[in-house]
Amino acid sequence: MSQLPFRAQVASALGRTAATLSRMTGRGDGSVIGGRVGLVLEPDLLRKLAQDRKLVLVSATNGKTTTTRLITSALLELGEVATNAFGANMPAGHVSALSQAKRAPYGVLEVDEKYLPDVLDTTGASVLCLMNLSRDQMDRAAEIWLLAQKWRRAVAGKPVHVVANCDDPLVTWAASTAGQVIWVAAGQRWKEDSWCCPECGGPLDRKDSDWACRECTFRRPQPHWVLDHDMAIDPRGQRWRLDIQLPGQANRANAVMALAVVEIFGVPVQRALPKLAEVRSVAGRYTTVERDGRHARLLLAKNPAGWLEAFDVTDPALPIILAVNAQGPDGRDTSWLWDVDYRILRGRPVFVTGERKLDLALRLDTAGVPFQLAGDFTEALAAQPPGRVDVIANYTAFQHIRTEFGRAE
Ligand SMILES: [Zn+2]
Repeated sequence: MSQLPFRAQVASALGRTAATLSRMTGRGDGSVIGGRVGLVLEPDLLRKLAQDRKLVLVSATNGKTTTTRLITSALLELGEVATNAFGANMPAGHVSALSQAKRAPYGVLEVDEKYLPDVLDTTGASVLCLMNLSRDQMDRAAEIWLLAQKWRRAVAGKPVHVVANCDDPLVTWAASTAGQVIWVAAGQRWKEDSWCCPECGGPLDRKDSDWACRECTFRRPQPHWVLDHDMAIDPRGQRWRLDIQLPGQANRANAVMALAVVEIFGVPVQRALPKLAEVRSVAGRYTTVERDGRHARLLLAKNPAGWLEAFDVTDPALPIILAVNAQGPDGRDTSWLWDVDYRILRGRPVFVTGERKLDLALRLDTAGVPFQLAGDFTEALAAQPPGRVDVIANYTAFQHIRTEFGRAE
């Protein structure tokens, strides 16, 4: 790799120093502050750090941290990989990730959906992995259509390989202006944001996994890769069992996306699969924490689609603790809780905690799901019999539990 210009070297080094200081003073893992310092000193730092590397950008509403980790794990077969493993997914986090692995020939970067066009422009990444788009706590249907339109413009005419989930009509529409697209039928659990054609606004007809607009020519492309329950079917028609440790259909979807991405770099399925199988938890997700004989498995769910995925992973035989906060990263408006169908929880012991426990309680009551309120997570856990319990928490509630019980990985 060519040398960075002197100014970029200094900016990158000072950024790393700031990150170290931030860690030493207990302000988190320091990746964001380090990147910010670097960008102030050299606004063009991200472009310079990205030069001469083979980069993958991963974006979606849900699953981007996990998929970033899976791709990274498989690409390590080829050499060192720079990655923003802790979900710092805006340019300061990208600068930090690339600065910390200066010689890595590969980079896998999780990118916030809104930053994707800029980051693609700046880094000139060679591969984009686009998985799903749905409403989250702040963005409703109109906003995500605008977002898809920005993605569409960003990839148009670029020499980039796009790997896109063709079961998500909005992602398909966003990706279809790109010159080279590898379509992956990775499934779509949450359909509430894609009943209308993104091209013309007409109704989308669905039959099994296929979909097509009733009023224009927009329809699901023929997939190259297919996720079929726990099997991945590659472009040659060969079937591979997805023996991975991460639970649930959403993670099998992430895995098949990862297989399609790393094959572009020349990592065949048989080499990639064992590497995907090594990943047990991602930034605390799916980790089990223990206190006094209560083993709590932590699931993160930040939006309606994420809750559906979490329900798919939970064990119906176990009690469940739900924790909802409404701080900055969660969004203060919790009305999205009303978009989730909680009736699947009927019959399980349900405990509700977090700053917005009363909002969630009202929602559960309306859905006819009995529950108990707990003052905080520790109290909710102590109320369980010894044994296993599932926990679904939104962003800051999840981080709070991780901090309280140690940053288990
Ligand atoms: Zn249409």
